[in-house]
Parts: sequence; structure tokens; C-alpha cells
Amino acid sequence: MQTTTPAVSIRNLRKSFGSLEVLKGVNLDAAEGDVISILGSSGSGKSTMLRCINFLELPSSGSVSIHGEELLMKPGKQGMIAADMRQINRIRTEVAMVFQSFNLWSHMTILENIMEAPVYLQKRTKAEAKDEALALLERVGIADKRDNYPSHLSGGQQQRAAIARALAMKPRLLLFDEPTSALDPELVGEVLKVMRSLAEAGHTMLVVTHEMGFARDVSNRVVFLHQGSIEEDGPSHEVFDNPRSERFKKFISLQK
Ligand code: ADP
Ligand code: MG
Repeated sequence: MQTTTPAVSIRNLRKSFGSLEVLKGVNLDAAEGDVISILGSSGSGKSTMLRCINFLELPSSGSVSIHGEELLMKPGKQGMIAADMRQINRIRTEVAMVFQSFNLWSHMTILENIMEAPVYLQKRTKAEAKDEALALLERVGIADKRDNYPSHLSGGQQQRAAIARALAMKPRLLLFDEPTSALDPELVGEVLKVMRSLAEAGHTMLVVTHEMGFARDVSNRVVFLHQGSIEEDGPSHEVFDNPRSERFKKFISLQK
């Protein structure tokens, strides 16, 4: 049997903030090319889980490995800290995150936003970064906005720019935290369409979302979090057609 290294491997991940335990022993393996929707009510720990995967948060215990490389930690004054910042910074360049609130730099044009990390973090030439940025803007359908500032774009266009910026790093893993939740309903579709095209192109994606259509039809797998534990995990169609967890059954019945 062929064995391949998972893109993400999470083992018995626990995360507490003070006395509040937010993740209670999460296990997850994502294969290369997986598109996984992470569902769950507000406060169930979805964002915290994503933030532990790109090390915006560090686990209280348990392990997170990206492409087979386990994050090295050591005890600090208040819980575990990174043992090697170079390792974190290196792995972070392979993991891009798209946030609900876009988080574009407001004082830079769209093109500058996209070129920033390739030029200043990855030390690629400006000419190369520009060519790639223009191709990415084409790909997400906002090539005509290259010289505009973010505030001149609609929310849907800003989020597509944020996706282009994430792709500019050539990440091996894409994380999305409710990428369409801040958008007016009529702008959701244009962002989902770009995300679908990324899924079809084979990107490995972990997507926290409330878009049930995306979860069922675009992602190949669904993970349902409830109060910091995974309650349901399986192929998308299977879990929607035949949910095992009563809580997940109730959760989907309450979605629009
Ligand atoms: P979700 O994304 O599913 O809505 P979160 O992961 O954001 O859930 O939050 C889960 C719980 O952890 C919530 O009760 C939230 O208030 C708490 N929490 C998240 N981040 C922090 C933090 N930095 N400090 C304290 N509590 C936090
Ligand atoms: Mg959240």
C-alpha cells in the first residue's frame, strides 16, 4: 500500500484559554488535495483549531504537523511556546490563511498587497512577483482593480484580492475562516466560485464555513465541531445524507 504524508496531522490537540478548555482532544488528518469543511456553532472552537494549524495559537497539549513536520514546542512561563521560531516562520510560509474580514493593507494598492509577501518575505524579484500577481488577479477576476486601494473595492472583490494574496505565497495549504460571512448575500457567490475553482485545481483547503452548499458539493469531507470535540467526520455526501451524530443532524436542520 502506498503511504503518503498527510498535509495536516493533528493529534490529541487541546487548547485552553485560562480555565476555559476550547479544544478537547482533536484528531484530524488531512490528505494532500483534501477540501475539508469545518462546521459548528459559534464558539465551538473552529477558529481556534485553524489558528493552531498556522500557529497563530499554540496547542496547550497534543501535536500539529504540517506535511510531516511536527511543530517543536517547549515549556514557557505560561504554557507551551515555540522551541524554534525559524521553524514556525518557515512552516508559516507554506500555510496561507484567508480571514472573514479580508485583512488587506489599506495603504497599498491591490497589486502591492499581492506582491508584498513574495517580494519582502520570499525575496523574489519584483518583476516575477508582479507577473504572478497579475496572473492571480486575472484568475480571481479582478485584474481591472490592480491599481485601486482596498476601500474602493466591494467586499466580494476585497475577499478575492485576499485570496489572490494568499495564493501569491504558493502555499501548500490554504486555510479559510468564514471567508463569506462578512459579505452581503449577493456577493457571496463570486467568492465561493473562486474557492470552488481552487478546490478543482487540487489545492488542499480547510474551510470554516456556514455555506452548506459548499460543504456538501465542493468539499470532499466535512468535520463538525461541538464544544471543542469532533462529533462528525466523513465524506461530505455521506455525513449530510446519513449523519451519525444527533447534534449534527440538529445542526443541519437549523441551517437555511
Ligand atoms: P468559533 O470559531 O467556533 O466560533 P472560537 O474558536 O473563536 O469558536 O472560540 C471558541 C471559544 O474560545 C469561545 O468561547 C471564545 O470566546 C474562546 N476564545 C477564543 N479565542 C480566545 C482568546 N484568545 N482568549 C480567550 N478566549 C478565547
Ligand atoms: Mg470563528
